[in-house]
Amino acid sequence: MPEHREAAAGYHRYHIPTQPAPDIEKWPSRFKVKVRRSGLAKLLIKEVFHYRGRKDVILSRPCMYGVFSGPVGGFMPREEHCVGCLRCTTEFPEFVRIEHNPERRSLGDSYFTFNYVDQIAYEASSGLVPVRGAGYRGKFGGEGWDGMWTDMSEIVRPTRDGIHGRETISTVVDIGFTPNYLEFDPSGQPTGSTPHYLSIQLPIVLDAPQTELAAGVARIYARTAAELDTLVVLPFEYTTGLGEFGDAIVPVVRPEHARRLGQLGFTPRIIEMQGWDEALYAAITTAFPLAIVALRTGFEETDALVSYAQRGIKVFHLLADYHGRSADGGFVLDLIRGAHTAFVDAGIREEVTLLGSGGMIAAEHMPKAMICGLDAVAVDTPLLVALQARFGGECSARGASSFRLPTDLNEAWGVQRLKNLCASWRDQLLEILGAMGLREVRRLRGEMGRAMFMKTLEADAFAGLLGYTEASNG
Ligand code: SF4
Repeated sequence: MPEHREAAAGYHRYHIPTQPAPDIEKWPSRFKVKVRRSGLAKLLIKEVFHYRGRKDVILSRPCMYGVFSGPVGGFMPREEHCVGCLRCTTEFPEFVRIEHNPERRSLGDSYFTFNYVDQIAYEASSGLVPVRGAGYRGKFGGEGWDGMWTDMSEIVRPTRDGIHGRETISTVVDIGFTPNYLEFDPSGQPTGSTPHYLSIQLPIVLDAPQTELAAGVARIYARTAAELDTLVVLPFEYTTGLGEFGDAIVPVVRPEHARRLGQLGFTPRIIEMQGWDEALYAAITTAFPLAIVALRTGFEETDALVSYAQRGIKVFHLLADYHGRSADGGFVLDLIRGAHTAFVDAGIREEVTLLGSGGMIAAEHMPKAMICGLDAVAVDTPLLVALQARFGGECSARGASSFRLPTDLNEAWGVQRLKNLCASWRDQLLEILGAMGLREVRRLRGEMGRAMFMKTLEADAFAGLLGYTEASNG
């Protein structure tokens, strides 16, 4: 068989296998079901006659989700099954009331609110796309990410069925260096800089906390990244014994690790340097000459990024805190635009790769961050929430262990939860790409023509009108 036929026969479409991975730790239910017992008793008596004693029917009324189907029916509602459809209270307002469970709010913090926690929990346990829209009564704009909308009003959408498999939409992204142009000598051999990059199957990199990790957590992250064909950023200390996932691991090294690089036990394809350090950079390039060296640093360093690129760094992993803020209070959406623009202005944006972490906690934040200029998102706190981590108060500072993971975490469950989350986020990304008519996610980077900002639109529409002020624009 000709070579190209063999290649075609070897083609397989990228797919993330999902399967249910229910919670292992009991979380407070989303809703409190308040039932007045005398009212329920009267209903039951009536229904015993009406349904001629059919226990299964009587105990399942009035909730089709099984909240009233426990051993004593609605006298002890099974609140964990309540989805908040409000059918019961609409049908029997005189004795059923549904309320939000205040305990549920303790699962997140002021930024990663319980609504986001609910969403992640659903995505991680099912691998499905949460369905919203019909009857949505929430806000359509707001602060932060909610102040940015994406334009999906293209008339020609050749790929819009991508999620269902009609036409492939590629989510492959490249991490590394690609020169602006290639040069060749008279014999056709490249003479100048040549591309040096690796490709991953989705624009999601797993960013493990750079703090003390519970036993087995690093392994869950590493195995997930390897099975997804992406990367995981792990503290140097936690890479020991994970050589089998070496291709997927990006060790984070500090100056004190310079002499211990040989202890890694595998040759990394990419390695992250925590902050710029000339001596450490030299040590890494000597120990691993073929590895891509990335710089892990805060968005505060944006002004210096171009100079680091001139010193050899071509991949930047930029960090905001877990609430998406830089030290000077900037929000990650604006910070990404600043970093992207710095490279565009220097004429080398195509040569470098920008990864970003911090404050990107929902599927829709990923395409928005890419439109603002990231090549891929390094996801942090959502992975912890997918593993049912609970926040111990406000969780904004990186490096602080202000979350607690379940004690009975097991590897197969953890890997499936993270894969489910990534599958759900990828499907949501495909929906957006399809609606925009884009056939590959690489085209989304810096595509500001797809973005609309609430502030700008409101200013365009209302500036000059009585009562409109910039401040009222939120
Ligand atoms: S709100 Fe819906 S799901 Fe919850 S108890 Fe009532 S009927 Fe059942």
